[in-house]
Amino acid sequence: MPALSRLTLATAIALLPLSASADERDALADAVKAHTVFLAHDLLEGRDTGSKGFDIAAEYVAAQFLAAGIEAGGTSGYFQPVPLRRRTLLAADLSLTIGSETVPLTNGDTVAIDASAYRQQESLDLPLVFVGWGITAPELGLDDYRGLDVRGKAVVLIEGAPPSLPGALRAHYSWVQQKERMAAAAGAAAIVTIKSPARERFSPWDLTRQFRPRPAVHWRAAEASHAPAVQATISLSPVMATRLFKANGIDLARLYADADTKAPKGRPLDATIRVARSSQHEDISSPNVVGLLPGTDPALKDEYVLVLAHLDHVGVGQPVDGDAIYNGAIDNAGGVAVMIEAARALRAKGVKRSILFVATTGEEKGLIGADYFSAFPTVPLDKIVAAISVDGLMAWHDFEDIVALGADHSTLGAASAAAAASIGARHVPDPIPERGNLALSDQYPFLRAGIPVLFPNPGPRDPATGAAEHPTWTAYETHSYHKPSDESSLPIRWDVAARWARYIEGTLANIADGPRPEWYEGDALAKGFAPDRPRAKKPRD
Ligand SMILES: [Zn+2]
Repeated sequence: MPALSRLTLATAIALLPLSASADERDALADAVKAHTVFLAHDLLEGRDTGSKGFDIAAEYVAAQFLAAGIEAGGTSGYFQPVPLRRRTLLAADLSLTIGSETVPLTNGDTVAIDASAYRQQESLDLPLVFVGWGITAPELGLDDYRGLDVRGKAVVLIEGAPPSLPGALRAHYSWVQQKERMAAAAGAAAIVTIKSPARERFSPWDLTRQFRPRPAVHWRAAEASHAPAVQATISLSPVMATRLFKANGIDLARLYADADTKAPKGRPLDATIRVARSSQHEDISSPNVVGLLPGTDPALKDEYVLVLAHLDHVGVGQPVDGDAIYNGAIDNAGGVAVMIEAARALRAKGVKRSILFVATTGEEKGLIGADYFSAFPTVPLDKIVAAISVDGLMAWHDFEDIVALGADHSTLGAASAAAAASIGARHVPDPIPERGNLALSDQYPFLRAGIPVLFPNPGPRDPATGAAEHPTWTAYETHSYHKPSDESSLPIRWDVAARWARYIEGTLANIADGPRPEWYEGDALAKGFAPDRPRAKKPRD
């Protein structure tokens, strides 16, 4: 919205109530719109983690909590400052030696690497060992490291995880941080990832190549909580990967094709990688904003339902059509707006368990604020009975479908399904399970901690025409997701946004007032993350 950027903040706010037409709005739709328009305004410059725009957004959310009668639940009033380190790659000297031939690697072209999280100067020369998918999961009978000596070496692994793994577990084992942990546990010094054509479809090399070398952020002492850690994570271009494997007598296309059905056999490669880099570290701080609604039931108020909506977006970047501000209206100003209004409604009505509302920082940098909260929760972690993400405001059409990730794994599914029915919607299966979305938003660190999670969004199907994707949905995914045009001027249906807010409110009320959420018996996620928690019988559908 470049035309508005000359206005003062106060003028912009004063204009908001005038901008919707009177007949098609209700107070809830107006409120969700007002928060979204403010948080996605150009003046906040895309709410990048650690930026002034983010801090203004955080003050706004704290003020809205206060106005809604939601108590402060942070470590410093409404805030939980997260100590962060921004790391910037200053220079990198990279090469691959295959047999006796040394090939220079160019960052952002044949290889992609970011700054070191730990060292400002570093020089590594590491022999390579292929480890298939690089997964150690005894509960699934997988151990790609078996029989291989990877200590002090770089392991070469295929991005993602085999399709045979149940949806959310596939997501978990696809997560690069999980691959790093498994590699480090086996003693490896670095990981080198390669991308199959199947993976390329939703994680294109062209994006990895562009984004990986940019400055990144992690929370300080993250290394302590996730120890041991690998020193470097390197992505190899498909062309360079093919060359490396060919020189070792391996047909990579064939290996990818077979890897889906049969774990590829690991082996040492006749190659070494050299990584010499200098990195700049800058310590910064950015807060989670934490609101608390105390429960009304004396026996249940010490249990907490956790709601997470990320407040950050990606800031200012590469201009598209002359616009460099990545406003993140849908992702996730709108989700924060919905969370604020759900908090207000639940405060008015009262619920038995307490609810914590957290507007997180650093989600776009790798779920950093949520990860930090899971390591330093402001209430005891074992008193958090459920974690729900509100990420994305996909209010494009009169949806009937809700894709509630996590619903199949615990009794949270019933709480969500009842709320869905109350707004005339129903659960449908995830149309893109291969994307692993359950590991791609703020609920994931809590899933890892064994807490039942839910990550719901409206489904894309257009009930009016029967089309699998409503055209406005497709237009957003194609042209606006993580682009400067994710702005509140998009054709958002604010009446539908209000309907979504009612579903979120209903789901939270059902969880806060209902029986303590439990994992289902025999559930694969529960087996991996919550082996000792009580189980509930899964109802037949
Ligand atoms: Zn998001």
